[in-house]
Amino acid sequence: DAVVHWFKMDLRTSDNRALFLASEKAREAGVPLIAMYIVSPQDFEAHLTAPVRVDFMLRTLGVLKEDLAKLDIPLWVETVEKRKNIPSRIVELMKDWGARHLFANMEYEVDELRREADLVRSFAANGIAVEVVHDTCVVPPGQLKTGTGKQYAVYTPWFRSWIGHVHGNPDLLELSDGPAPNSGSARIRFAKLFECQIPPAPDNKKLSEEDAKRSRALFPAGEHEALKRLSKFCDADISGYGKHRNIPSMPGTSNLSVHFASGTLSARTAVRTARDRNNTKKLNGGNEGIQTWISEVAWRDFYKHVLVHWPYVCMNKPFKPEYSNIEWSYNMEQFEAWTQGKTGYPIVDAAMRQMHSIGWMHNRCRMIVASFLAKDLLLDWRMGEKYFMEHLIDGDFASNNGGWGFAASVGVDPQPYFRIFNPLLQSEKFDPDGEYIRKWIPELRGIEGKAIHEPYARGAGGLAQRAGYPRPIVEHKGARERALAAYKKGLESN
Ligand code: FAD
Repeated sequence: DAVVHWFKMDLRTSDNRALFLASEKAREAGVPLIAMYIVSPQDFEAHLTAPVRVDFMLRTLGVLKEDLAKLDIPLWVETVEKRKNIPSRIVELMKDWGARHLFANMEYEVDELRREADLVRSFAANGIAVEVVHDTCVVPPGQLKTGTGKQYAVYTPWFRSWIGHVHGNPDLLELSDGPAPNSGSARIRFAKLFECQIPPAPDNKKLSEEDAKRSRALFPAGEHEALKRLSKFCDADISGYGKHRNIPSMPGTSNLSVHFASGTLSARTAVRTARDRNNTKKLNGGNEGIQTWISEVAWRDFYKHVLVHWPYVCMNKPFKPEYSNIEWSYNMEQFEAWTQGKTGYPIVDAAMRQMHSIGWMHNRCRMIVASFLAKDLLLDWRMGEKYFMEHLIDGDFASNNGGWGFAASVGVDPQPYFRIFNPLLQSEKFDPDGEYIRKWIPELRGIEGKAIHEPYARGAGGLAQRAGYPRPIVEHKGARERALAAYKKGLESN
């Protein structure tokens, strides 16, 4: 007999609920624990997984394999081409290994829930037990309700309720132990499993040598790196987070999103570590930077709760059905300019080039470019949402969908009439000296002073033109009017 833990987006040994339960089960039964990960190229395709993200996951599996081997726990990694075959293949593997129990953490997206439902059916038919548990959120979805028993669709009251719930249920921030070691005989019995190799990325998800080198230096993989980064952030930068988090030229945020998205860091560990640096046990007290950071980590829970309650957001539908009738421009030339960082709006272009270069973009800039796409260009927000997933190392369906819904005013709590960012004002406010712009748009480095924000209108047009930097592809004021009219018309047509 044996117990199996199926790793998915929970690629860590510490504070991993299902892994802990699997280890407990194995220990009680006196049988070995086996870990497994299924690589699904079809899932990469369906979920638009960015090559940098695939690379990060595969690198992380290498670290995980070594860590588990030190505990005499094998990590079996197998590629299953067709995702519909995953449940039956797992049944075969379990039979081969003589394993009767499988543990996994739950993923909430619709495809994943369907796969798990298939798995439960196949297992029942084969007499294998399966336990799928909540792990990824601090507060599991479904627990927070408004006074009238409904799911919250607005963040602020939801967050108040989230805080109250965590304070009332301190066990939510209890961290699980890592898995207990197997006895040495597991090494002999499962020798073949210890030998398996981490596969290379599928051809269409491979990184160039240069990109791979850059990504590896910027985003070292594995849970130890996540914990190191968390600890360094909490020691040094978290107090200034409230002040610095909106300045994209500063390293003012934690840069932990790739770890949250891959599960190399648990949200519980993050919130608990931040709270423990505070001089209060309250999540909403003490140091302001710490409070603000915890409230940002909570956004991640919020969007997952939204996804669970309104799963149609996974199916290309806006959260508010009444926003389905907006007539988008579908101007592909402008979309291309946006993707390439050639809109003539330096702050927008710098941000898009940051994402192309390193697979990550600052949160303030994500909001600016998303608002620009949906409002200034009146392009379908789903084109931007998809493009982000294809390029982000931290691509996460719920956060990305939530962020796009917010910026395009089609998500929870939409406010189209005052949430139209003026890219120029954003640029002047959050990148006042143009440091971020100059970093990512080398051809504008020669432009001095405030002209960096709009070279053609502020006397630096000659230089910009010689450097090949484009003129603005839209005029903001007119574009704003057009967006307001289109949203109004869309809403009125219901
Ligand atoms: P920090 O500021 O240090 O925040 C800590 C953690 O809190 C983040 O790592 C993240 O897990 C969470 N968090 C912070 N802000 C948000 C938020 N607004 N929504 C959800 N979680 C948040 N985040 C992703 O992880 N994946 C995405 O695919 C993604 N797409 C986005 C798309 C748009 C249009 C927008 C506006 C935001 C998106 N975000 C996404 C949220 C946010 O931009 C990133 O989480 C953040 O920039 C990551 O940097 P950090 O780790 O330094 O964040």
